[in-house]
Amino acid sequence: MDIIKKFGEIVGDKALEDPEKARKLLLTGYRLQDKRLGFFPDKRLPASGRYVARVVMENIIQALAKPEEAALVSIFVPGELLMAAGMTPYSVETMSCFLAGTKCQQVFLDQMEEAGFPETMCSYHRVFLGAALAGLVPKPKCTIYTNLACDGNMMTFPYLKEKYGVPGFYIDVPYEKNQESIQYVAHQLRDLKKFLEDVNKKKISKEDLKEVVAKSNQGAAYYQRQISLRKDHDPVSTLTNDLYGMFMCHLLAGSEESLEYTRLLYKDVKKAPRGEGPRILWMHMMPLFQEAVIDIFNYSSYIHIGACDFVADGFRLMEEADPYEALAGKMVHSIYNGSIKERIQYNWDLAKEIDADGGLLFAHWGCKNIIGASSLVKNALEERGLATMVLDGDGCDPANTSDGQVSTRLQAYLEMLEEKRKEN
Ligand code: SF4
Repeated sequence: MDIIKKFGEIVGDKALEDPEKARKLLLTGYRLQDKRLGFFPDKRLPASGRYVARVVMENIIQALAKPEEAALVSIFVPGELLMAAGMTPYSVETMSCFLAGTKCQQVFLDQMEEAGFPETMCSYHRVFLGAALAGLVPKPKCTIYTNLACDGNMMTFPYLKEKYGVPGFYIDVPYEKNQESIQYVAHQLRDLKKFLEDVNKKKISKEDLKEVVAKSNQGAAYYQRQISLRKDHDPVSTLTNDLYGMFMCHLLAGSEESLEYTRLLYKDVKKAPRGEGPRILWMHMMPLFQEAVIDIFNYSSYIHIGACDFVADGFRLMEEADPYEALAGKMVHSIYNGSIKERIQYNWDLAKEIDADGGLLFAHWGCKNIIGASSLVKNALEERGLATMVLDGDGCDPANTSDGQVSTRLQAYLEMLEEKRKEN
């Protein structure tokens, strides 16, 4: 019997009749898992992987157990400000990944379908909205979102702000990457600081903010140092483990935990041997629950993901002179903002830096950000000589993806990479 599936079904069913009880049950499960990670860490993973698994688990537990101290944010909201405010940030994507990992997402997807939400809407948002409307995810202290990268936010956040009746804040990031845009965003971030002080009834000192931005920058420096080693070092990892980096560079940026993660990662990469098989540059999200992909990448000592553009871009070094301008610069210059040409160039440079054999872009079902960009990225990288595959799938809704098809396409792509490696 699949215990997680059974547990997920119980949580899902309970969520519809008694969401409080369902949340308690879910929390009990997550706390047990946290204890298990503490007593029996996954020895197949290096120290950074074991560490980050607990940090993210504890972040979710905290968000569910103490919603009065938590802020629901979209992934590109600068975590540094939340760290300085002493709040717990969590995102739509993180929570949905955990619910999908607990296998209770189906009931929320069904609920959203019944409520008339289109199936073409990103499943991370549908699962989250379903769980929030059912009451499984409790009302946070506030919501903060931005237009950066994700169009799903533009619907989910205003809708939830209304439903929850909590204060909300929106950060508008202009398309143009110039000083004017940075000043415009920095101005909004100064207002965000005041907003956080108001909702949290606690001042954020200039020194505290400077300190978290400096810490965030130290983490980015460690991260970039380990990237520069990747061409000769391939640590064992899992998709989940790699994706956790996304929470470290955005939601928890500037925290001691994020800094410690990058320190450990740097050490792990430094001592990892070079792998024998292909090295991949991964682009965008990762399908954490797609068996066909997991079977190939998780714990493999042969094939490796050398870097993920989402995470590498998130650990961007900042000018620290003014913390608001530093954070604004990180948002404005994100590869998910502005022209696709810059994102292509970034990925090409990253592929060269890690000496990637191929690129793999995961096109998550319903993500408008990637639908338009995927063929442009693929064609441009292939023209420059990087064999690139667009892998269609769904990171959260198994109904939108087929393991058989994914497996066949992925195997054919990897065989092609092997052939190329032999030729070279
Ligand atoms: S996959 Fe796309 S639509 Fe979904 S949360 Fe991520 S950026 Fe937004």
